[in-house]
Amino acid sequence: MTGGQPLWAPWRMAYIKHGKPEHQEGHCFLCAAPGHDSLVIWEGDSTFAMLNRFPYNPGHLLIAPKAHRADFENFSADEALELNVGLQICLRALRETMNPQGFNVGMNLGSAAGAGVPEHLHLHIVPRWSGDNNFMPVIGETRVLPELLEDTAARLREAIEKEG
Ligand SMILES: [Zn+2]
Repeated sequence: MTGGQPLWAPWRMAYIKHGKPEHQEGHCFLCAAPGHDSLVIWEGDSTFAMLNRFPYNPGHLLIAPKAHRADFENFSADEALELNVGLQICLRALRETMNPQGFNVGMNLGSAAGAGVPEHLHLHIVPRWSGDNNFMPVIGETRVLPELLEDTAARLREAIEKEG
């Protein structure tokens, strides 16, 4: 395969493979993350961003509302705007720290669309490099070391702080 192919299916496979451990009511990892999880890289008023614990490429980020909700169509203009501002902040931080050649950005809304955590919407950002499809399956099979994720999170936080 060559680089540049769309990447919509792989990240839902990660959730299936890992058995959706945080999926149950009251144990939502997205609700628990802001203010606590070491993989959180940015927090706004209603929105936050964190590294995906089951990445399909280095720097795979999730942006989500802090509230446990799935109805993006009912977000206020401010909430919708902050999600997009968060996306810009994440894209800049990824460019600065990892020099990717492209990004896949998208949401799977609802189980039928492949959402791993359908009750808490999240926007995926997957940095892409030419030819990365060739080693992606290998990364998918091999859990990224937690220390490596923490290190990446620290570098991204640093890039965001530097920007102000
Ligand atoms: Zn939640």
